[in-house]
Order: sequence, then structure tokens, then C-alpha cells
Amino acid sequence: MPEGIEIELYRRTAERTLERTITEVAAPDAWFLKRGLTAPVVIEALLGRRLVAARRRGKLLLLDTSGDGPVLGLRFGMTGRLVVDGRQGIEELEYGSSRDLATWDRFVLEFAGGGQLRLNDPRRLGGVELDPDESRLGLDAFGIRPRELAAALAGSAAPLKARLMDQGRIAGIGNLLCDEILWRAGLDPARSAGSLSDGERGRLLRAMRAVLAELLAAGGSHLGRLQAARQRGGLCPRDGTPLERRTIGGRTTYSCPRHQR
Ligand SMILES: [Zn+2]
Repeated sequence: MPEGIEIELYRRTAERTLERTITEVAAPDAWFLKRGLTAPVVIEALLGRRLVAARRRGKLLLLDTSGDGPVLGLRFGMTGRLVVDGRQGIEELEYGSSRDLATWDRFVLEFAGGGQLRLNDPRRLGGVELDPDESRLGLDAFGIRPRELAAALAGSAAPLKARLMDQGRIAGIGNLLCDEILWRAGLDPARSAGSLSDGERGRLLRAMRAVLAELLAAGGSHLGRLQAARQRGGLCPRDGTPLERRTIGGRTTYSCPRHQR
């Protein structure tokens, strides 16, 4: 499923469309248009404009448009993909079908010269909106600083994993990234977020930075070292201990009872 890493790869893919003029907008699925948006409104708002910047905050892709045009916000849910000029931004998603059926196209921009940008989403859990409220999202996980991480965790009795995945606090970390980060940092996902010492928080930040950089370079959230063991009977790749499987923050969580404390 797309996490911050996949959306960053989509953002880079979307950069290929910058400065092309939008000649056609297709929004065939009313369910996919959010916050009261309708097909006639989004078509009117985008036709004839150019995309001038591709930004990302957490799992939200933000495309700025030319003139006094709106910001186009794209969300990818569990199975959404960005396809530009017939090429997918990433080869396949861990839980998504790699098939690309035109009936799953929820939103399409056609450009002068023949290229196109498509949001293809079998399960329809993503969405399109204009001028999304970026202030509702927390700091982007990729650039978070020590003091900001401390503030996001301070005083919280919530499980550490739930807090790290709370997109209003820290944006971009989903289930797989979170398990990988906490496994590398040697921290129990169920511990209360506010209980970390300065040293533990330092370890967490270093693990976040390392995991995000490595898996972005590798090309997906599902390419971490813990991933192959995230199944029943899986063993910790570090010390061979059987992994514990729990539901934390509503998500299936794998962790090592020996080295994650
Ligand atoms: Zn272990």
C-alpha cells in the first residue's frame, strides 16, 4: 500500500508532466471527488492550465497549477497508483494488483502533445480534491528534526506505533515503514509514545532517517529487512527470536520481544 515513499516516487513521476497544458480532464467517478467537488467544477478549474510544481506532504500529492489555479490534491488510499504517459510510478504495490485496468481510472488529465496522468485505483479508497487543507497534516517524516519529533511524542500515552502513524502529527509513515523503523530502533511498538528517553528518541530518529532513505532508494516500503519475516512463524532477522504479532493502533504489527523494548 502506498506510504510516504511510494508517494514520493509518484511525485517524481508527476514532475514529468510539469509545464504541459491540460487539454482534457476526466473525473468519471463521483465517489472519488472529495469535499463536495464535482466533475464540472474540477474540469472547469483545470482545463487550459499547466501543472507547475509537484509537492508532497506525507501521503498527499500536491500539484500546483498555473495562473490563479487551484492546488490539485491526490490521495492514493490502499491501492492507488499514478500512471504518467502509460508508465507506472512504481512497478507494483505489496498488496495491490499490478494489473492496470482502464475501468479503475478514477481521474485523468490529458496534456497537449498526447501524454496523460492517470490515478488508477481498484479499491477506490483514494481521492481527488482542490486546495486541500495542508495544515491538517503533521510534519513530513522525511525532513523531521529532533525537536519536532520530541514535540510529536511528548506527553502521549498512545502506543508509540499509533503516534508515529498519526498523520496529523507526523505525515508519511504507514504500517510497513513503522514496523521496520521500530524494529531497527529496538523499540517496542506498544510502549507509550511519551515514555521514550532522549537516547531512545535519538535512536528512533536515526532509524527513521535510515529506513526512509534506504527504502526510497530501493523503491518501496515493502523492501525493508523485516518484511520477509512479517508473517506467522516469522523470526527476527537480527536475533532469530520468534516475532510477536499484535494489533496496535488498529494495524497488524510484528515486533521482536527480545530486542525491541
Ligand atoms: Zn530481535
